[in-house]
This record gives sequence, structure tokens and C-alpha cells, in this order.
Amino acid sequence: MSRMIPKIPVTVERPWQKELADCITDPSELLARLNLSAHENEADSAARELFAMRVPRPFVAKMVAGDWHDPLFRQVYTQSAEFLQEPGFSHDPLDEQDNITPGILHKYQSRALLIVRGGCAINCRYCFRRHFPYGDNHLNKRDWMVALQHIRSDNNINEVILSGGDPLMAKDDFLAWLCDQISEIPHIRRLRIHTRLPVVIPSRVCEDLLAWINSLNLPLVMVLHINHANEIDPLLATRLQQLKRAGVTLLNQAVLLKGVNDSADALEALSERLFAAGVLPYYLHMLDKVQGAQHFDVSDERARELMAEIIRRLPGFLVPRLVREIAGQPGKTPVDLLLHP
Ligand SMILES: *Cc1c(COP(=O)(O)O)cnc(C)c1O
Ligand code: SF4
Repeated sequence: MSRMIPKIPVTVERPWQKELADCITDPSELLARLNLSAHENEADSAARELFAMRVPRPFVAKMVAGDWHDPLFRQVYTQSAEFLQEPGFSHDPLDEQDNITPGILHKYQSRALLIVRGGCAINCRYCFRRHFPYGDNHLNKRDWMVALQHIRSDNNINEVILSGGDPLMAKDDFLAWLCDQISEIPHIRRLRIHTRLPVVIPSRVCEDLLAWINSLNLPLVMVLHINHANEIDPLLATRLQQLKRAGVTLLNQAVLLKGVNDSADALEALSERLFAAGVLPYYLHMLDKVQGAQHFDVSDERARELMAEIIRRLPGFLVPRLVREIAGQPGKTPVDLLLHP
């Protein structure tokens, strides 16, 4: 007598810690899950040595099986093109590796950025931090007191940004402690969190997280990182609604990526889907010129064409600002349509 073993439905949510511990790290497994045949997989797989593969399963569940061009798959799949060396693409395009003092990056006058946790739940192949020495940045509580003292002693800082890696990789009791400390500093008006974690593991928006957010004494802005409309599924939409109900202002930053979202249709759909989920588009970043990500690069000219098209199609509040990060500049640099016709 034989019995069918039921497959676990992918829509069942598991605690985020479980998802983190059970990411897909082997390119062959990812291909198998998506019914893609691994015929030329060896050369692509080798790119794991450059930057590990790491893909949470709830993110894989949003990919379309059988499609090599799936826009979510392309963001995480290792490719032999990562070995290409191209002039102008460096290991540290933003020049951050030298000027980092433990835990804090204070490049912009009014905003200080805290590197809460080095790692991420997902490894995006285009990431400008793919060569970042995270291991060197592990902080203990004493280091945190020093970083907090830096913020306390500088009246120009009115906003603290929790970043990483991904700050939501940290445990909620630590985040609650840190945010409490920050909220007691009189010149701090808001707190911001830059995260991709809820997008790739929606159950990260758990009761503990909502509890400390609800008890927070500062306005909270959460900047998500979503590059394609398909990343917003009903599970994520539900979690975003919970954040909204807790009073969080939700914004999105995307990176303009060849083969992922470099069409007016894709950008329009992203803005519309974000709005429907209660999120406003904030930035559309030009790719940082990091070694190994050349195949994602979109030219300035093409980027401006795309912007001109979505400005025609969308209301102003659904048009993100096209920006580039330039080392040493006092803020993000707009890639302006008028200055460069
Ligand atoms: C992007 C960034 C910020 C925030 O800049 P906004 O333009 O306010 O979003 C702050 N610090 C660093 C180091 C950054 O890279
Ligand atoms: S989530 Fe952001 S920081 Fe982390 S790997 Fe992706 S792009 Fe890089």
C-alpha cells in the first residue's frame, strides 16, 4: 500500500529564525526547485566562491518555475559573468572600507547610520557590499555605548538610520534596547530602518517586532528594498499592513537592474504595486560599480529614457528619484533629466 506524501505548501509561514537557518545556498538546489535543468550550471555555480549564494525559501516561492528570466531569480542566481573584470568596477565603489569607525557611518550632516548587523538574509548578486569585510565590524555593548555617545554629542544629527547588512537580522530585544537609547537623545527627531528582510521573509514582521515598534517614542520610517512587483505577494502585503497600522511610514528603494526591472512596464508595475501595498517609492538607485555586477549595469542614457517614460505614465508621488551614490558627496546625487538632456 503506498501513500502520497503531501508536499508542505509554500504558503505556510514559519518563524523567521527558522527561515534564516534554512536558506538555499546551493545553486543546484535552486535550479531543481524551479524545474530548471542544470546543463551549464558548473561555470555559474563557481561564482559562489566570489560571494556565497543565500536565498530564503519564501523569496523562492515568489519566482516563476521554469523561467530563466524570472526577475527575482536573476537577482540571486550565481553567474559566470561575475568573474569578468571591467575597468571602472571596483571592490569598494563607495570608499567606505577606510572611513568606518566601529558601528557608525556619519557621512551626511544630519543623519548618522548605524551598522547594526553585518549580514543579510539574502545575498543579492548586485550588492555593493559583496566585498565588504563584515567580520571586522562586530560590536559588543561597550562599542555601542561609544557609538551612541557620538550621536549624543553631535547636535547636528537629527535622524538615526539603522542599516547593515540588514538591521532586522538583529534580535528584537537588542533592537528594542538600542532604539530606546536613541529615543532618549533630545535632538533625534526620527528613526529610520533600511531593510530587505520582510520582503524576503515576511514572517520577520513578528509579534515581538510589532511590540517594540508600538512602544517606540519616535516616528519610525522603514525603507524597504523591493526591485520588482512580483516581490509583493499577499503574505508580504499583510505584513506591510500590520506595520502601517503600527504607524510606520513605509518607503521603498529599488536598484535599476538590467534584466530585472529595466523597462518602463516593470517600473510602472512596481510603483503601482507598492502603492497598493501602502508603500511609496523613494529612490531608484543606479547600480554601484562593484566588481562582479557589471552584467546588471544600465547606462545613464537608458535610465533617463526610462524615467522620462514613467513620468509620463505615473502621478508624481509614484515616481522615485533616480540617484547615484558618489563617494565623498554630501548626499545621494540626482541623475537629473534636465542637466543631461
Ligand atoms: C543613503 C545614505 C543615507 C541616507 O540618505 P537619504 O538621502 O537621507 O536617504 C545616510 N547615510 C549613508 C552613509 C547613506 O549611504
Ligand atoms: S539586502 Fe541589500 S545589503 Fe543585503 S545583499 Fe541585498 S542589496 Fe546587499
